Amino acid sequence: MSLRDPNTSLPEPNEPQNFALFFDFDGTLADIVERPEDVEVTEATREALTALRHSLEGAVAIITGRDIAAIDRFLTPVRLPVAGVHGLTRRDATGQMHHPEYDCEALKIIETQLERLVAEETGLLLENKQGALALHYRLRPELEGVCLEAMERAVNGMPSITVRRGKMVIEAVGHAGNKGEAIESFLNEKPFAGRVPVFAGDDLTDEDGFASVNRLHGISIKVGQGDTQARYRVQDREELLSWLNAIIERIGNNHEQS
Ligand SMILES: [Mg+2]
Repeated sequence: MSLRDPNTSLPEPNEPQNFALFFDFDGTLADIVERPEDVEVTEATREALTALRHSLEGAVAIITGRDIAAIDRFLTPVRLPVAGVHGLTRRDATGQMHHPEYDCEALKIIETQLERLVAEETGLLLENKQGALALHYRLRPELEGVCLEAMERAVNGMPSITVRRGKMVIEAVGHAGNKGEAIESFLNEKPFAGRVPVFAGDDLTDEDGFASVNRLHGISIKVGQGDTQARYRVQDREELLSWLNAIIERIGNNHEQS
C-alpha cells in the first residue's frame, strides 16, 4: 500500500459497528461552491449521517475549518459533535463546548491589514471566524500570489499565528491546534473512545487528521486528487457516500443476524 499514491480502493467494512467516523465538511460532505455561504448538503447525505449516528452510538463528528454554527446551519436538523476552525472550538458528544485560548489581538491587527487588500480588489472575501481569519480568492484565482504575500506580510513577527492554506483560501489561525488534535480529543471521550477512527477529507488541512488516524491504525480517506498521506482514496463525494451506505447496510444486517 503506497502512501504517496493511494490508489487503493476502500476497505471492506468488516467490523463497521466499531468505527468512529470523522468528516471534513467542504469538498467531503458537500461540493465546493464559489461562495462558501452558498454550500448545500444533499438529503441523501443528511440521511446517511443520521443513520450512521444511530448505528455507531453517536460516534460521528465533523472536523472542519468552519465555525460550528455554520455547520449546524448547513446540516440542520442534524446536529453532530463538531470541531470547528481547525480544532480551535469543539462541541463534544454531550454538547459541551471546549474553547482553547487564541491570540485575539494579533488577529485584529491582521484583519485591519487584509481589509485594505479586500477593499482594493473586488472578488476577494475576508471571513472573520472565531479564532481565525480566512482570505478567500476563489473568484479571483489569479490573485493567489498577491493574497499569499499580503497574508505573510500581515502575520510577520507574530509567533502565535499559524498560516494555513486550503483550496482557494489562506487562513491566519490564532492557535497551534489542528485537525489531528481535534480527532484525538474526541477519541478520548465517549462514544468515540475505543473505536477505530475513520477520517475523510479533501484538502491540505486534513493531512494532520490523516497523520493522526494512521498513527492510531485507523482508516484515512482522501477525497479527490492530490498528494496525500491518506491510505485510501475515493474519487469524489458520491463514492464516499456509497461506502458509507454500505457501512449502514452492513451494520443493519449484522443486527438482524444477532
Ligand atoms: Mg475540505
